[in-house]
Amino acid sequence: YYNDNTFIYHNGNLVKAKDARIDLYSQTMHYGYGVFEGIRSYKTIHGTTAIFKPEEHYDRLRKSAQALNLPYNWSNEELIDATYAVLRRNDLQDAYIRPLIYGPANMSFNPNEESNITIQAWAMQPFLGDKLLRVHISEFQRPNPKAFHMQAKACGHYVNSILASQDAKAKGYDEALLKDLNGNIAEGPGANFFMEKNGQLITPAAGHILTGITRATVLQLCAALNIDVEERPIHPDELLTADSAFFCGTAAEVIGIQQIDNTTLPMPWAESLGAQVQQAYKKLVVAQPIHTKATVVA
Ligand code: PMP
Repeated sequence: YYNDNTFIYHNGNLVKAKDARIDLYSQTMHYGYGVFEGIRSYKTIHGTTAIFKPEEHYDRLRKSAQALNLPYNWSNEELIDATYAVLRRNDLQDAYIRPLIYGPANMSFNPNEESNITIQAWAMQPFLGDKLLRVHISEFQRPNPKAFHMQAKACGHYVNSILASQDAKAKGYDEALLKDLNGNIAEGPGANFFMEKNGQLITPAAGHILTGITRATVLQLCAALNIDVEERPIHPDELLTADSAFFCGTAAEVIGIQQIDNTTLPMPWAESLGAQVQQAYKKLVVAQPIHTKATVVA
């Protein structure tokens, strides 16, 4: 992720990653009480580097902080500027960007007067689209929405994601697919889920999932492509009758699923609605209008 010459943004300054220090007494470290984002930048068809949906991601970071009562005093504009500065300083084009809001020293459960921010970035190539996943319906459920704010990207929520993902991989699968507390299909550890059945897409509705920015983009692309999408609960029995399926998320982009537990999905990926969405998504992320702060690369 970084080397001796990597720079990060830390509370207003660009500093070397290896020299940055966070407080060992932070609530974020001990209780997972912090929030983060996962963003991508792409080398566009204009030759520039452009962050994909920066306003949406920094809006969500602020909402995540507010949901957890974490002080948040940054504007989107200053953080988008800071993100472009990190990309330029590290010579990054196709990258993954990780802003993190963490607390100062405080071992109590009381709120903080202030928060800290870091923005890290590392190279990540766009997904080629040819790999298909084998997923395992996890024994780990998504968290109870009455115990957490599902729409907040809170650090501690991801213990659940890590447990499910590691368990699926230990059983020989590529990734987990988690159910909600009612037993319906919810989402992946860090991606939303869609299935295809009889020429229509079905995706779990809001409530027990983090309704991702990529999911919203996919819904827009489906409207443009005249693909019908229903947002409603998916029972695991129905899932196993799917023609095809895919995950979508900032890191995963749109990635096809070939197998769910012992069931191989019958439709060849290239013929699926997911493949159409995947092609449209790949085009969209590199066709962004030139941002005033975009780095121009010769
Ligand atoms: N669900 C979960 C649990 C996630 O962590 C993510 C990644 N942020 C997503 C869905 C997809 O969200 P997005 O498209 O905004 O990256």
